Amino acid sequence: MPIQPVKYIWMNGGLIEWEKATMHVMTHAFLYGTSAFEGLRAYDTPHKGTCIFRNDAHAERLLYSAGLYDIPVALDRDGIMAACREVVRANGLASSYIRVNAYLGYGELGPYSSFDKGEFNAIAFPFGAYLGEEAARDGIDVCISSWRRVAPGTIPASAKMAGNYLSSRLISREAHKHGYKEGIGLAHDGTVSEGAGENLFVVKDGKIVTPPLAASILNGITRNTIITFAGDLGIEVSEQTIPREFLYGADEMFFTGTAAEVTRIRSLDGKKIGNGKTPITDALRQKFFGLFNGETEDERGWLDPIG
Ligand code: PMP
Repeated sequence: MPIQPVKYIWMNGGLIEWEKATMHVMTHAFLYGTSAFEGLRAYDTPHKGTCIFRNDAHAERLLYSAGLYDIPVALDRDGIMAACREVVRANGLASSYIRVNAYLGYGELGPYSSFDKGEFNAIAFPFGAYLGEEAARDGIDVCISSWRRVAPGTIPASAKMAGNYLSSRLISREAHKHGYKEGIGLAHDGTVSEGAGENLFVVKDGKIVTPPLAASILNGITRNTIITFAGDLGIEVSEQTIPREFLYGADEMFFTGTAAEVTRIRSLDGKKIGNGKTPITDALRQKFFGLFNGETEDERGWLDPIG
């Protein structure tokens, strides 16, 4: 996906011009991968103007990820949220994707190195449907990847670190090479984990199941949103270990993620999922997108207007 430059980037304390947001090749994060990040979306809503979706939850996850690796972040939760609002506002973007990075900069060598302060930036840019407009409309064809996700006790899957996406790259590149839109990674034990950049939900007999946090998944904010909305709709959701073969007998399957939003999966490894009818996925999609067109009441204050 090509980068669409805008005017300003929020970097280490304020807005600077896009071209000036550069870093040294001896940046610790570049040498050792010490970079925590978030991806958020701002939606153009008819009733509340431009709003960042679950800005608070993303700020909290960023602080969790950075904290796990002892990466100091100059801003607290409210400061991070404010920087995100400001960078969207400054660039005059009605809707956008926001990428926030908290990482170790220039000054020390070695994986152990302590830093008094970390670097921080927030970037907002125009962004459409991540898996394509057609995917959003018709659903996608996916495969099981031959690559496993990181195992427990190795690299924490629940911290959103740039380096975790090496696994995502292998899964995604392999899937595309074989003509699929996306791949699903299995956990170290062969049970189902998640997509390269998405959490997975499976519908069977009117109930939803999704892999647990222990299956090397990211604790997705869209995942949490969908679990909450399913509760509102009276649909049972359980987080449980899923054997691969369970997927082929599913009635419906879908991915969630900030970029992927809620995307229906229509086939797995060339086998059609269910009978093509997806009432539960459709109901959840309607409730999810309803937040941004005003049809779903924002009962939990998940829309953060940029002001
Ligand atoms: N899993 C992975 C590996 C991801 O990269 C993402 C996208 N951030 C997700 C799940 C979904 O998380 P969220 O809903 O918080 O965007």
